Amino acid sequence: MINSWLKRAMENLFKKSEEKENFKKARQEWLYKGLEDNQYCEAECELCNHEEIRYEYIIVNSLNNNLMVVGSECIKKFTDDFKTDFYDIEGNLVNEKRLTKDKNEYFKKILSEALDKRLANSNNAFYKSIAEQIKKDGKLTPNQLKSLHNFYPTLEEMGRRAFKSVVTVSLKKEREQEQIAKLSQNELEFVSQFMSSQQRKRFGISLIK
Ligand SMILES: [Zn+2]
Repeated sequence: MINSWLKRAMENLFKKSEEKENFKKARQEWLYKGLEDNQYCEAECELCNHEEIRYEYIIVNSLNNNLMVVGSECIKKFTDDFKTDFYDIEGNLVNEKRLTKDKNEYFKKILSEALDKRLANSNNAFYKSIAEQIKKDGKLTPNQLKSLHNFYPTLEEMGRRAFKSVVTVSLKKEREQEQIAKLSQNELEFVSQFMSSQQRKRFGISLIK
């Protein structure tokens, strides 16, 4: 049975491929190019015509150099559902792990840019060190996070999404655990958004949203 997604995908892919009848063959003409660095463009997935995709993965046709912008759900289909190997332009096998890695790097890049524009340019050494820490591994102490309470809402939507995906709360050290205990209710609400569910459980915090 051909579902409606596959019907649209076949139509769209054949339009830009050399192969016009065999979907598997047409699909093998395409290589993974990467994640588009365009956070403000609201694009449509060219494979399924789904509107307003958040992340734009680019695929390129190895025979005619046609490009297609594909959403995150559809790019995943290239890595598993299609039952054929999917490669990038350098010949590396692309799997779901690679797509996740690229997305994380993309988030880091967006966040780095936002931080460079704001915190790192401030003359405040404290904020500079936080910006460095976020770029390094994203692990912040409760007190570092607390100090970003006013900065966070000023980020664009994509920046906030990136922040949530990159930043985690460091709570291994006793000193850090003590910091949690000293937060005001307001500060705790902010900081706990970035804690893992395990951490919240451990500290008896319920997520207020
Ligand atoms: Zn799609």
